[in-house]
Amino acid sequence: MTDSPINIARIIDGKAIAAKIRAEIKTEAEAFTKTTGIKPRIVFILVGNNPASEIYVRNKGLSTEEAGFSHETLRFAETISEKDLLHEIAKLNADPLTHALLCQMPLPKHISEERVIEAIDPAKDIDGFHPENVGRLSIGKGNYFAPCTPQGVVEMMLRDNIEVSGKHVVIVGRSNIVGKPLAALLVQKAKGANAIVTLAHTGAGNRLAEFTRSADILIAAMGVAHAIKADMVQRGAVVIDVGQNVIPDAAKKSGTRLVGDVDYDAVKHVASAITPVPGGVGPMTIAMVLRNTLTAAQRMHVR
Ligand code: NAP
Repeated sequence: MTDSPINIARIIDGKAIAAKIRAEIKTEAEAFTKTTGIKPRIVFILVGNNPASEIYVRNKGLSTEEAGFSHETLRFAETISEKDLLHEIAKLNADPLTHALLCQMPLPKHISEERVIEAIDPAKDIDGFHPENVGRLSIGKGNYFAPCTPQGVVEMMLRDNIEVSGKHVVIVGRSNIVGKPLAALLVQKAKGANAIVTLAHTGAGNRLAEFTRSADILIAAMGVAHAIKADMVQRGAVVIDVGQNVIPDAAKKSGTRLVGDVDYDAVKHVASAITPVPGGVGPMTIAMVLRNTLTAAQRMHVR
């Protein structure tokens, strides 16, 4: 019987795929440094004392070191004016030895995130948030950077030999960081893409399951713990969980645990392949931060 409850989805090991990519980048970075005499360099900008941002930046910093990059974290007080922050960004834009600039969001309320994003040189905007990068991604031509998480999802499926071309991909979530750029990447007429894409959001209301059940590949990027239930998934679908939600867990020393947007324990009996949280999309995002930093450095120094 095809509906046997003992069917368990294959786990898509994002952690292992990301480790392989990081090793490849390390080798490529060594060759770059040998040729040019310089290391790929990323600067993280941190404003205020957001503990989550501190953890992200520390983890990204460690990974860049392992890859043989140079990195620095510039910390500014919560009270820094927008004018002063934009001035710091202008200095980094002008520094030929800084290849990538990553300003950790959220920013304090008195600073416009939009103005900060638009102040970063698009050639150093490895997050792919600058309107010039967003536009080029939408056109699908030229040198641009796509945001790291969507890029990581596409790369993970490509390396895991998941056929995307001609498949119906349903993405739940339309943020500018994940959902929208992921749709833009997956509809491109390119290797690892060429999908038929549906972008769902809260506007779907009580019809959400109707859309998700029609997916060959279902990608959840909602920020709602365990929102995707087994009855919302077509049997044999591939399920990619972008969500990272911290929920209470009295059994853990920290009192919390990280879970995705997918009800993993139930959905694994319906899907053919599934990403875990943690260990799925998260490590791919960091690998793409490295990929884009090296690409930025290569574009600036290698003709
Ligand atoms: P976001 O800006 O809050 O966007 C969430 C999107 O999901 C919105 O478009 C929202 O629809 C939609 N949504 C929420 N609840 C819904 C529901 N019940 N039905 C249908 N649509 C619903 O979040 P984000 O920044 O894109 O992040 C999404 C998740 O990915 C979060 O858990 C975040 O932590 C995680 N994330 C992970 C990584 C990683 O490296 N793994 C990186 C980035 C983000 P509306 O637009 O209609 O409100």
